[in-house]
Amino acid sequence: MIFDPLYLIITLPAIILLIYSQFKVKGTYQKYSQVRNMYNMTGAQVARRLLDAAGLSNVPVEATQGDLTDHYDPGSRVLRLSEGVYGVPSVAALGVAAHEVGHAYQHVDVSYIPMRLRAPLVPVANIGSNLGVWMAIIGIFVQASPLVLVGIVLFGAAVAFSLLTLPIELNASGRALKALQANGLVSPVELQGAKSVLSAAALTYVAATVQALLTLLYLVLRFSGMNRSDD
Ligand SMILES: [Zn+2]
Repeated sequence: MIFDPLYLIITLPAIILLIYSQFKVKGTYQKYSQVRNMYNMTGAQVARRLLDAAGLSNVPVEATQGDLTDHYDPGSRVLRLSEGVYGVPSVAALGVAAHEVGHAYQHVDVSYIPMRLRAPLVPVANIGSNLGVWMAIIGIFVQASPLVLVGIVLFGAAVAFSLLTLPIELNASGRALKALQANGLVSPVELQGAKSVLSAAALTYVAATVQALLTLLYLVLRFSGMNRSDD
């Protein structure tokens, strides 16, 4: 697939967007990691405060290794923050920690549908994004259209997962900024900073989704080309 010029042409816009968003998120994150927040609160302290404010005292906040590895684990109901967020009193840490709290808010919000729609897709998406693509590529290579079709369906599920992830991420950031404001943890300038960090992070999700969509388009094009030559 890598050596197919059609694949490169189709996915080129996504590749450019992906590279741009990586630069953007790194730059913005680095910039606001250096700006101390007014209450000198670490990411862990911000998360604890926002969780408690919503009655989520039973959700522990833990430190996890790596950079930008922050996540809320809905399975074990634990919020994990990366080293650069957990113990750092920066504006970036404040934004990232609040975003993860936003996911914890979504989890207990029964009226929030996208999260519920996405949950059953998790295992399918994990299989589909790897196995699906390879099945389709091998199918194209050996000219076995049923194999390509199964690969496309599996990968399509992964793309659907990606499409559902996008509004969930934006919603978590929206909840984060609202909670920071409601709890009086940010100045207007800091709110803008936190917003910049979260917008840059959202752009990487947009890029990944566009990439997945264009890959799906490529597979469908090759599949329909195969069937045409079968006639
Ligand atoms: Zn998120």
